[in-house]
Amino acid sequence: MVSGESFDAIVVGSGAAGLSAALTTARAGLRTLVLERTEAIGGTSAMSGGLVYAPGSRLARAEGYEVDRAVVTGYLEAVARRPIDAALLKAFLDAAPAMVDQLLEAGLLLRLTGLSDYYQRVPGAAVGHVVAVQPFDPETLGGLAARVRHSPYRDCTAPWTGGMALVAGLVAACTKAGARIWTSCRATQLLTEGTAVVGVEVHSADAPVLVRASQVILASGGFEFNSALIGEWVGETLEGAWSCPGNKGDGLLMAQTVGAALSAVGEVQWYPLLRLSDEVLEGVPLFADAGPARNLPGSLVVDGQGRRFANESSQYQDFGRALGARGRGPPSRVARGRSGISRRLPAGVLRRSSADAAALADRIHSRRARGPHGRRCRHVRADAPDVQRGGGCRQGP
Ligand SMILES: Cc1cc2nc3c(=O)[nH]c(=O)nc-3n(C[C@H](O)[C@H](O)[C@H](O)COP(=O)(O)OP(=O)(O)OC[C@H]3O[C@@H](n4cnc5c(N)ncnc54)[C@H](O)[C@@H]3O)c2cc1C
Repeated sequence: MVSGESFDAIVVGSGAAGLSAALTTARAGLRTLVLERTEAIGGTSAMSGGLVYAPGSRLARAEGYEVDRAVVTGYLEAVARRPIDAALLKAFLDAAPAMVDQLLEAGLLLRLTGLSDYYQRVPGAAVGHVVAVQPFDPETLGGLAARVRHSPYRDCTAPWTGGMALVAGLVAACTKAGARIWTSCRATQLLTEGTAVVGVEVHSADAPVLVRASQVILASGGFEFNSALIGEWVGETLEGAWSCPGNKGDGLLMAQTVGAALSAVGEVQWYPLLRLSDEVLEGVPLFADAGPARNLPGSLVVDGQGRRFANESSQYQDFGRALGARGRGPPSRVARGRSGISRRLPAGVLRRSSADAAALADRIHSRRARGPHGRRCRHVRADAPDVQRGGGCRQGP
């Protein structure tokens, strides 16, 4: 095994969590390396809406929203499905405003959105908690822009919005702070000396290397593409996910090997999706958001026995959970309703590969994600400039 460079801090995963952590360590003067398993920087975060729940920020105060922590706590406890660890919740509420401060100071152009908390009928739901990044001009990233994960669900023309803008802003700030980012580099094992973690083993196209660091931060996302873990921890069979295909639970498994306790692994973010074509993204089936089909007025969703099983306009998490609970039965189907809006959707029952499904796919895709040449954006370009090859990893700044 080859011994590679050493750093003060290694961050495993280049989503918003990992890049925020790297920004923190790099700005504190630590020599920081971000490892990313896939070719692209940004993980699910880059594919997301990029909305950040951060109650109590200075952006909110500037617009006259004062946060009562007891009220926010009450709201979160009411919507959680299990008791929340009080220390963790306190740490989150302490850190959220400080995180926004740090991101602003590092140059991210954050703004307060006018969005309300999801469960508006639960006491404590309010406006003023959700921040987002302003549209980001990828030109300012130079060659690095091609290495940011391009969402297949969004318009990727400049300026970028949503999760791509968030990740791009974080990449710019991390780079400026001196952090380095290696893509196509998978952390496979924590190196230990006694009880201390002292680095990671990294696998790439070439021979594995050992990279040492006194701090290792695991931010490798979820485990939705690890069917064994899904079966063991969630107890369901997922047909797929629409997040980053690199999310296979590596960080969780590595943490377990050094004795970390895991909690709430069975709680997942459910999302109702449709498989409308045979397209794949990095080897996994590409799904589409079922939202446009399910929650417009007049839509009716029934299961394989023709039974309605949830409120079609409920929040995606709740609808997805209801769908997941029936996951092993025949596929659920979307039937046409009678409102003016639903008449614009394809008629009849939607099925994969049916002409109806193809028509709906086209509508969803054309509305949501046209790229610069009328095609949907794809993932990162492999021939991106500014990339040096070294140790098999694609090394950035
Ligand atoms: C379409 C969509 C929209 C969403 N919109 C929102 C929203 O608006 N607001 C919100 O709060 N949430 C949203 N979410 C959820 C949110 O995107 C995720 O919860 C969040 O991005 C997770 O961030 P993360 O940094 O923990 O993980 P990720 O962003 O998934 O990053 C994890 C990274 O770690 C990498 N990795 C994994 N294993 C290794 C390894 N061994 N070595 C190196 N790298 C590794 C992965 O390849 C990946 O790039 C959305 C999700 C989706 C799918």
